[in-house]
Amino acid sequence: MSRSIPVDFGADLRFTLTSNRNSTYHANHSTHIYDWTPTGYWRSPTKITKVEAFRVKIPIKGDYRMAKGVHDAMRSVVVRVHTDIGVVGVGEAHQGVSGYSSETLGTMDAVISEVYGPLLVGCELDAVEGLSAEMGLARRGNLFARCAVETALFDALGRARGQPIAAMLGGPVRRRLELSGSLGIDEPSVMAEKAATLVAAGYRTIKVKVGTNNITQDLACVREVRRAVGEAVAIRLDANAGWSYTDALTFIRGLGDLGIEYVEQPVAAEHLDGMVKLTRLGIVPILADESVHTPDDAYRVISAGAVDAIKIKISKVGGYIPARKIVDICEAAGIKLVIGQGICSSLEAAAEAHLACAYPHVCPVAEMVGPTKLKGDLVEPKLDLGSGYLDLPEGAGLGVTLSDAALQRYTIGPEKASTKQALASV
Ligand SMILES: [Mg+2]
Repeated sequence: MSRSIPVDFGADLRFTLTSNRNSTYHANHSTHIYDWTPTGYWRSPTKITKVEAFRVKIPIKGDYRMAKGVHDAMRSVVVRVHTDIGVVGVGEAHQGVSGYSSETLGTMDAVISEVYGPLLVGCELDAVEGLSAEMGLARRGNLFARCAVETALFDALGRARGQPIAAMLGGPVRRRLELSGSLGIDEPSVMAEKAATLVAAGYRTIKVKVGTNNITQDLACVREVRRAVGEAVAIRLDANAGWSYTDALTFIRGLGDLGIEYVEQPVAAEHLDGMVKLTRLGIVPILADESVHTPDDAYRVISAGAVDAIKIKISKVGGYIPARKIVDICEAAGIKLVIGQGICSSLEAAAEAHLACAYPHVCPVAEMVGPTKLKGDLVEPKLDLGSGYLDLPEGAGLGVTLSDAALQRYTIGPEKASTKQALASV
């Protein structure tokens, strides 16, 4: 026979104590469930009760053009993970342009709803490392979808423990990131004007998209941006795998004394020989982005001598746990590691900020400036990125709050790529 006794120490500590025949006592508190016997106590494991996925589309301020596609909007999947203690975690992963990722909103939604959700419901929230591994075994690839779910698991765990994600990762080692402003492909004069505006706002690093089939025009864009921002501002270049090895060689030899920090992904992701030859030139550091999606990729390109630096985004690598492994591989190899997503909401930017602030080896000049390009956002209040810096969000989990109104406003149904531009964005 069991007995229940209400216990009331005021608003902060009020629960029902239940005993049973086995001398096990159970307390259902507002934020945690506790069990104990006369010889000890433990907190009952928090269980995952539901996983939801939402397809989201937020317009951007004008098109954002890259070598392999155009963003006309930020498309992403937002995930909510519910638990039996009432805590809800949120995560997000955007949809990359064609040529960057094989995933679409439809494939992300499907694998979360049909595979990851059923896999996770009923599992213990605390076991995130194991859950991440199980998701990887359940479905090969789908790293963007995994990232959205894994971020939501970390957010829920952080909120349940009252800890920021950066603290759960072992940090923070810094609470402020310097940001690199980014410029989509455009006319040289337009890019120069936009670069000057970013520098006036406070940015000290500018990332310039190149990689078109017009090397002369690409070089002209870089020269105009350098002229506009002066010598004290760092310039990073990103070709998004747009060139052949020959074009990349011509471009890099044409840079002269423009003082470039690095050239990102000059050739195709799979073109390891080209990356090796360009790295061996020693003219400008070569960074890999599209070539590195997994820790195995990072190990392979580093051991081949194909890179001087690596760029990750939390979405493309599948979340915090795979990202941590890539950070460690780069640190062991003495290879620079840059983090940041150019098209994303404040939800994904916050997730990346915790990663960038958790580990000493991550470059403190990060690139999660996606929210500055959007006409709307998913969190309230928005992150402040306008002056070229981002402060690590304070509070448990991600430290930002998903706006239910914004989620409702920007949630869309299945979308057909019926126009050429929409197809490029898919
Ligand atoms: Mg890139």
